[in-house]
Amino acid sequence: MAALKALEANLAKDTQANYVMAEYVWIDGFGGLRSKTKVITGVTLPATIESLKARLPVWNFDGSSTGQAPGEDSEVILKPQAVFRDPFRGGSNIMVMADCYTPAGEPIPTNTRAGASALFAKKPEEEPWFGIEQEYTLFKDGTKLGWPRSGARSMGPCVQLGFPGPQGPYYCSAGADVCFGRPISDDHMHACLYAGINISGTNAEVMPGQWEYQVGPCVGIDSGDHMWMSRYIMLRICEAHGVTVSWDPKPIPGDWNGAGCHTNYSTKAMREQDNSYETIMKPMLANMEKKHMEHIAVYGEGNDKRLTGAHETAPIDKFSYGVANRGASVRIPNDTAKHGKGYFEDRRPASNIDPYLVTGKIFQTTVLDLA
Ligand code: ADP
Ligand code: MN
Ligand code: MN
Ligand code: MN
Ligand code: MN
Repeated sequence: MAALKALEANLAKDTQANYVMAEYVWIDGFGGLRSKTKVITGVTLPATIESLKARLPVWNFDGSSTGQAPGEDSEVILKPQAVFRDPFRGGSNIMVMADCYTPAGEPIPTNTRAGASALFAKKPEEEPWFGIEQEYTLFKDGTKLGWPRSGARSMGPCVQLGFPGPQGPYYCSAGADVCFGRPISDDHMHACLYAGINISGTNAEVMPGQWEYQVGPCVGIDSGDHMWMSRYIMLRICEAHGVTVSWDPKPIPGDWNGAGCHTNYSTKAMREQDNSYETIMKPMLANMEKKHMEHIAVYGEGNDKRLTGAHETAPIDKFSYGVANRGASVRIPNDTAKHGKGYFEDRRPASNIDPYLVTGKIFQTTVLDLA
């Protein structure tokens, strides 16, 4: 204890003369997140994010340990793409969203960022905005899902009170009998703000122990970068609280809401052009209907268990849209219908989506295909 106290005191006094710890974060071969730290020396502090970004080196890792390369040729190259402040280490330390390449410089098959980035680069003047509503479910005492058996408890009332009562009192709730996990949601929001992630809000969800936060609006590829880093921060916050987060779209079977990633979307013309609802959005939505199953293919694993037509969802096999309709695939907000311009909400994406794939696909269907 004494040693720990002394360590803490010394670290607090450290003015961090000329080094920065850079946490490189990347997506692994299974859709999870990995990270490791690179110490950057010879830095003049305090340093801006921009100046650090300019001097961050390309790095590498052992892809045979992450499902991303065979053992005999295991080096995967990490390219820094987006830089955030590190809320865990503080100071001038940073977190870096990186993506993965072969030594020859080709994106590896799991690098979905490269493809999305190429799509957005075709028409940057469209200024696509994305606001993603990330829902998640918190579990305590074990990672195996199933509820409320021991070793598989959500952050719900089952922990103290036995089986939770039916849905109703939990959404946007306050109170120890209905609200579970607020310190995690709150710490996460604060850490994201510190990091420079464009988080726009949070709320307790319909199922006990289920929460949501929103990231956006972000322009183009930034949406995926901010979303992935926000998930990494969630993993680290949960680690500190001794809790696990599930991104499963139907973590508890039965009469409980699933978890989604509603994706709110607009282009500059949708936002600004008078009557864009009729002249721009309706043709976009018609093409979305044609491409419905192509979208579903990248809208998350296990989404069939969530998109049943119940629990504020539309059935997975049929595209629909409607004003203020939370039972449609795409919801047109009242304001958009009223003003004839604005944005729409694609309600189909599941909580476990790859936002690079989803944002890229929406941009392709609504802009590039129609050009
Ligand atoms: P809901 O009413 O469906 O719960 P939220 O308030 O949770 O919606 O999330 C809406 C998200 O949409 C936010 O991240 C917000 O920043 C984003 N958003 C707002 N306006 C636009 C727009 N014009 N284009 C894209 N996203 C937008
Ligand atoms: Mn090693
Ligand atoms: Mn929401
Ligand atoms: Mn929600
Ligand atoms: Mn929504």
